[in-house]
Amino acid sequence: MDNIAYDWMLAHRARADWQPHSVVVAIDEDTLGREKGMRAIRSILADVINRVNAAEPAAVADDVLLADATDDAAGNAALEIALRDTKRLILPCDLINVQGALRWENPLPEFMHPGVERGHVFREQDVEDGVNRWVPLAEVAQNQQRWALALETFAAARGAQITENPPDGIQAGDVFIPARQSDQYQLWIRYLQRPLPMVSAMHIDEHRDLLRGKAVFVGITALSAARDRPVTPLGEIPGVELHAQIYETIAHGDFLIPARNDVEFVLCAMLAAAAGLIFALRSGWLAYALAAVVMALSAWIPVEFFDHDRIFPFFEPVFTAWISVGAAATFQYFFVRRQLRKSESERTRYQQALHWAAHEMRTPLTAIQGSSEIMTRYPLPEAKRHELSAMINSESKRLARMIQTFLDIERLADGQMEMKREPFAAAEVVETCLKRAQPIADRKNMRVFVDNAVEGTIHGDRELMEYALYNLLTNAVKYSPVETEIHVSSEIRGAELRLSVRDQGMGMDEKELKNIFKKFYRTKRAEASGEKGTGIGLSIVDQIVTHHGGRMEVTSEPGKGSCFTMIVVAPGSSKAAPGSHVETSDRRR
Ligand code: ADP
Repeated sequence: MDNIAYDWMLAHRARADWQPHSVVVAIDEDTLGREKGMRAIRSILADVINRVNAAEPAAVADDVLLADATDDAAGNAALEIALRDTKRLILPCDLINVQGALRWENPLPEFMHPGVERGHVFREQDVEDGVNRWVPLAEVAQNQQRWALALETFAAARGAQITENPPDGIQAGDVFIPARQSDQYQLWIRYLQRPLPMVSAMHIDEHRDLLRGKAVFVGITALSAARDRPVTPLGEIPGVELHAQIYETIAHGDFLIPARNDVEFVLCAMLAAAAGLIFALRSGWLAYALAAVVMALSAWIPVEFFDHDRIFPFFEPVFTAWISVGAAATFQYFFVRRQLRKSESERTRYQQALHWAAHEMRTPLTAIQGSSEIMTRYPLPEAKRHELSAMINSESKRLARMIQTFLDIERLADGQMEMKREPFAAAEVVETCLKRAQPIADRKNMRVFVDNAVEGTIHGDRELMEYALYNLLTNAVKYSPVETEIHVSSEIRGAELRLSVRDQGMGMDEKELKNIFKKFYRTKRAEASGEKGTGIGLSIVDQIVTHHGGRMEVTSEPGKGSCFTMIVVAPGSSKAAPGSHVETSDRRR
């Protein structure tokens, strides 16, 4: 992605007003064809150099390697003379790998007259796509550092020295080339879009004006002879033209530099932060529109940097923006939905809880009301009066307890209340609840059995546990036909105390069983039975048991009966004690 974007910018954000400073003299097919082809290359080159010299160029760079001895004695001699007569001449040297060690492949000594410079013609290609986007301005082999052919040519043309300006540049005359020493003085080539002036070696004389005062690069362009052609973002070009392109970049002094890592990091972090902020502060279409702006910005950053001569990778900001926008939007979507669901259920919970409270409190209130009315209206014997006032007393106490329980449960569910943590015998809870539930069972002629002696101690809140068990018992009565039995049993299984209430009532099917602990859920059968209810009792029972570090288990069969089991942790167990569970709810707060 980075490469594609870079090449696109190079092609579309090019400098339109650049005038070439160099000319390529091409030894093309025609030139080679006229002579004896590559066998006569030295004499062809001698002739070409002589003609170039006649045009008085600023410097002459030869791209034809002169490292091998040939048997073309006449050609060699002619070339030697031609090169000797050339001012500001640069000859090529290549890097070769000899048994794992890099060596310089130098021009033959007879061509290296005093004043002739050598420039390396080594190229560096992108490992991914083999495209030449940059060149190493310096290469080192055999402890010798050589400058690139184009850089040497530039220095020669300007009559300037090349000096290193470590760590981040090279000075060539009045031109400072920003290039890091640690990256072999990497120079990104700003390829000229229009074709560089190229003159066939056969037509130099007609184009002397074009060559005058320019840097002339002489090289083979004939496809049959050029060993390989470098691939550039603009396509394939002859090797010699690549040197001319590097020369143009240096001569125009308009360099592309990779953006600093910390700048990249900060910008990407800002994009991510922007995405986060947008979805933290805004939602809906506005957020998505702003996110689109961030994503557009991420694609625009590399272009803007490029316009300011900085190479900013494309993938990093774009990927960062997409990922963070995606993550922030997803988070917001789920978070907002969760919040919405929570507040919705909170609202209904309070409504229904109030409904439940009103309903539950009606029974003791009716008893109190009725008794007090009887006492005021009718003259009653002392014994009856006493009985009624005792009833008023106990019912109002029950009412007070219910209000307390209701408030406690609400606060417990909210995580506002710390549950009491005291030991009490399970048997006491069973006894109290049975006493309370007995009159209700009697009304339906139902018998309540305690199957075995209740053992074990519970650590927790006795009032709440009583409320829970009482609820199971009243449900068993409510949802069973008259004259049936209710069995209460207990069992200590390992570290757990199990308290069960089994009835012979209407029962529930599998699907209903899954829902009965949900608030306000009532089975169709229960509704049809005419028994009044709110569907909140079991959810509270479940909460209470959970707060005691336990769980509920229910088995049921429609028409046969149900068995509700409260399982709580008995003391001294290896499992978490109920107390530790309270700490959990503390922490949640
Ligand atoms: P309520 O009794 O006020 O409806 P609960 O939360 O106590 O609310 O019970 C929820 C539902 O579970 C009841 O409406 C009923 O459908 C079902 N249910 C509870 N206990 C029994 C039981 N012992 N037998 C059959 N169904 C029961």
